[in-house]
Amino acid sequence: DPKISVFGISIDNWSMTQLLDEILLQCQHEPQPMQQYAFINTDCLNISIQDESYRQCLQQSKHIFADGIGVRLACLSKGKGLQDNLNGTDMFPRLCELASKNNLSIFMLGGSDNVAQSAASNMQNRYQDLKIAGCHSGYFNSETNSDENQGVIDIINQSNADILLVAMGAPKQELWLAANKQKLTCSVGVGVGGLFDFYAN
Ligand code: UDP
Repeated sequence: DPKISVFGISIDNWSMTQLLDEILLQCQHEPQPMQQYAFINTDCLNISIQDESYRQCLQQSKHIFADGIGVRLACLSKGKGLQDNLNGTDMFPRLCELASKNNLSIFMLGGSDNVAQSAASNMQNRYQDLKIAGCHSGYFNSETNSDENQGVIDIINQSNADILLVAMGAPKQELWLAANKQKLTCSVGVGVGGLFDFYAN
């Protein structure tokens, strides 16, 4: 079984290549509702033990990937070795390469003003054909029924993005994706933490 259960969270024991292959496949099939993926480290596991709503939204995520030594040790304590360490920061350049080769577009939601835009420009310099469908800061009224929240969803949907990266930190990004995935027309949504900050400079 490629899944490993730790603290009630079912982790996919995949390689980065398998993860990228799956994103490509799903973008070709355009699943509705959007599929949600998460990376979890030990902080996330700790939050999930205390926060029922976060735990539930992890449990209903399509895929969960293990980030870091703590989760690796938790899996080893169950007698299961992880084949790869997976996180948004390592995934991002490979995802950009995949997207540029396969004509998929990425929307970047999160970070303070212009951070996503700077990260997008940097990646477009590296991958010439990369299509960034749009960028939006992660500071807005993200309550489910707010006009501002609906406005952000409209911007994302009108961009026709295939892949949505949400960098608002855990658990906020996972809760936001879970609360809004029925309304989003992207194929895949992934919570990526502080990722845009890393690539903005
Ligand atoms: N952030 C955001 N909206 C918020 C709170 C945070 O966009 O309401 C962004 C913040 O600017 C930063 C990221 O979310 O870029 C959080 O990064 P952090 O490293 O704390 O997240 P982690 O990787 O620990 O989940």
